[in-house]
Amino acid sequence: TQYVFDFASGDATQTDLLGGKGANLAEMTRLGLPVPPGFTITTDACRHYLAEGAVPGALADQVRDHTAALEKAMGRRFGDTADPLLVSVRSGAKVSMPGMMDTVLNVGLNDETVRGFAAVYGDESFAADTYRRLLAMFGQTVLGVDGSLFSRALDEAKKKQGVTADSELTAAVLSELVETYKDIILEETGSPFPQDPHEQLRQATEAVFRSWNGERARVYRKRENIPDDLGTAVNIVAMVFGNRSADSGTGVAFTRDPSTGEQGVWGDYLADAQGEDVVAGIRNTEPLAALEGHDAESYRELLSYMELLEKHYRDVCDIEFTIEEGKLWMLQTRIGKRTPAAAFRVACDLVDEGLITIDEALGRVSGEQLTQLMFPAFDRSNAPAPLAKGVAAAPGAAVGKAVFDPHRAAELAESGEKVVLVRDETNPDDLPGMIAAEGVLTARGGKTSHAAVVARGLGKTCVCGADSLEIGPDSARAADGTVVNEGDVVSLDGGTGEIWTGSIPVTDSPVAQYFEGKLGASSDPLVTAVDRLVRHADESARMEVWANADTGSDARRARRFGARGIGLCRTEHMFLGDRREMVERLILAEPSDREPILDELGRLQESDFAEIFEAMDGLPVVVRLLDPPLHEFLPSLVDVSVKEAVSPSAENADLLRAVRRLHEHNPMLGLRGVRLGIILEGLYSMQVRSIARAAEALRAKGLDPKPEIMVPLVSEASELDVARRAAEKVLEGFDVDVPIGTMVETPRAALTAGRVARFADFFSFGTNDLTQMTWGFSRDDAEGSFFGDYLDLGIFEYSPFAVLDEAGVGALVETAVKTGREANPDLHLGICGEHGGDPQSIAFFDKAGLDYVSCSPYRVPVARLARGQSAV
Ligand code: PEP
Ligand code: MG
Repeated sequence: TQYVFDFASGDATQTDLLGGKGANLAEMTRLGLPVPPGFTITTDACRHYLAEGAVPGALADQVRDHTAALEKAMGRRFGDTADPLLVSVRSGAKVSMPGMMDTVLNVGLNDETVRGFAAVYGDESFAADTYRRLLAMFGQTVLGVDGSLFSRALDEAKKKQGVTADSELTAAVLSELVETYKDIILEETGSPFPQDPHEQLRQATEAVFRSWNGERARVYRKRENIPDDLGTAVNIVAMVFGNRSADSGTGVAFTRDPSTGEQGVWGDYLADAQGEDVVAGIRNTEPLAALEGHDAESYRELLSYMELLEKHYRDVCDIEFTIEEGKLWMLQTRIGKRTPAAAFRVACDLVDEGLITIDEALGRVSGEQLTQLMFPAFDRSNAPAPLAKGVAAAPGAAVGKAVFDPHRAAELAESGEKVVLVRDETNPDDLPGMIAAEGVLTARGGKTSHAAVVARGLGKTCVCGADSLEIGPDSARAADGTVVNEGDVVSLDGGTGEIWTGSIPVTDSPVAQYFEGKLGASSDPLVTAVDRLVRHADESARMEVWANADTGSDARRARRFGARGIGLCRTEHMFLGDRREMVERLILAEPSDREPILDELGRLQESDFAEIFEAMDGLPVVVRLLDPPLHEFLPSLVDVSVKEAVSPSAENADLLRAVRRLHEHNPMLGLRGVRLGIILEGLYSMQVRSIARAAEALRAKGLDPKPEIMVPLVSEASELDVARRAAEKVLEGFDVDVPIGTMVETPRAALTAGRVARFADFFSFGTNDLTQMTWGFSRDDAEGSFFGDYLDLGIFEYSPFAVLDEAGVGALVETAVKTGREANPDLHLGICGEHGGDPQSIAFFDKAGLDYVSCSPYRVPVARLARGQSAV
């Protein structure tokens, strides 16, 4: 097996084998861009190492051969005491995991080669500093030495020499530090730092492999749903030095603003610095445009590569580069991570620039992103002056208690508190705290600092580089003397960088306001882009989107958001609150006493229905007949028993007897749905009558109501037959045409759908109950009980109540669609369980051939987008 590939031999398609970084370095090499020579050790080798605890036997020879080729290309030899080759050893998985894995720079230096290196560069302090950095990085990441031992030694050296910046240290002090660092390694590990460059390379490579299973990498993968078995590639790259001189430097560039999507030169530059300094946020950077002042030629060259890469990849690219004494080197490129707002704008702009088609643009955005764009933003009309302003690094409106420690943040969030993580700067160990927090605030670092990159990826609000704040380990102090302690509420605007103490009220997002009809499509570029892509999704789609709504106001919102019907009006929701007691009376009453209660309920229902039919005038409204698990409507057995014991009376004794009679151990599998409708005579007829009356009344006013009647929880065709005949009997008295259908929400209904369909004008899949009954776990309890463990153990990839279980529940849906349609070719098919608003499940329902999905009103725009995406 070939485990090592030269940059000159690969291309961008090989991310599985070479990782994202390696494949893109190969692609840039192929395009003729100035990439330092190097090679990639494959993910195969990593997987082998992780499985066997040792690298493949063939690897060592292959690495030697490629190192020899690299030596030839560079005209320098590894371990040459006169003019040594130095390399960086960089991780690079298939999916980018910024800052989550290890990197070692300057590999190849030792006590001998450092002298040759100093001679070649004519700079002893630079050489000693480079060696010092190797020792610290190697010690920490490869040998597991506590990094603070090195930084403490560095601080002491600076104090001793009386300087504050690393760059002011003299060659003599740096050489002393090299000795101190070597002593630290010897003391901490019991072995000296390996002097053999090939041995350094071997150990660094294995350390990068191991970092795939480091804690922060595992946490990140879980959060991002990245499979654990991909492994990382390792890139061995000839070193170039951005910390060489004033006409050297390093930077990160985006071809468009990853925060808003706006076009322009966007990035950070740090003169006279080594690559990792920018991402680590150690020193505050300059905007990329400042590079023009330092080195106009390199700046122009960089801009031309940025344009070339964006055209080549047909997407936003994110680039790392280094300039060594006026010579530009490209160290990395990848498709840039971006905020949801930027995703929509960039997708549309690329269409206008002729780089992608509108269908492709639709594939560049996600339902998840649209959901985020509908979140509220700050209402600043009465907001006080902000406490401070930092860099707007990831948008959103975060309000929460300030917490200064990532573990504490995770702890408080776990207990239900909303927290904002406040740190001087963040590092990868802060990840659990960042995941738990509403937002992240730092005093140091630019838009490409670790905090910013990670927050954008997580969809968290982030303000970074708020350097007027002094952030300590347990409090922060603002320029005006205000002190923020743990637990004090702060508000962060990730779109403007503003920070307030106290909580600022939030308002609807422009995107939500647009869907509400309160903002026009041309009100701002983001809204225009959302409008354009959602409309394109509508035009491309096969399925319709309907909504679940039980009130007039929900129905009106659903319609504004683009729903083409109501797929589920749950009538039991109309009986909660103060009407609950009426249903209780009805259920407990003797048959002879039911009539007046039913009449009263009937009148209330009629006006409920009229309001919804009117809101949806001209569009179908599927009214589901009552489906109350009895325990939701009956007083509890315990309460009634206590009542009777405390104040015995004939009335209380009757109540207790009735409640005992109806008490169920397993109400979800009890007398509910059509079973109750059949047993409790008069109930469904009352509802059908109210539907028909409401429709007739609206027709008389010149409207066009389109009610449909849905029978819940049918398992057996004859249940539907009985319920249908009863409903038709009531409808005979009215001049309305009302389709009658059923929910398919028990496995038996799905398995016998061919027979059920003979009595149904439509099916609507109730995937909540269908999931509950197919798996045999309670929808009310399971998620709070063992689901967390199942997700951790990998038994579930997602909660099956959130994302449809295609293999099990999905198979039942497919069976019912097929046999249902065979029996009744006109059968209309929809889904109204929670899965109707989930993009991944929507794609499945589209494939399964349903006519519509029905979801909660706020999910309607997301569903419109998702069903369009699944159709193109
Ligand atoms: C379902 O079971 O999926 C459904 C839509 O009905 P409910 O959630 O009201 O039980
Ligand atoms: Mg149900």
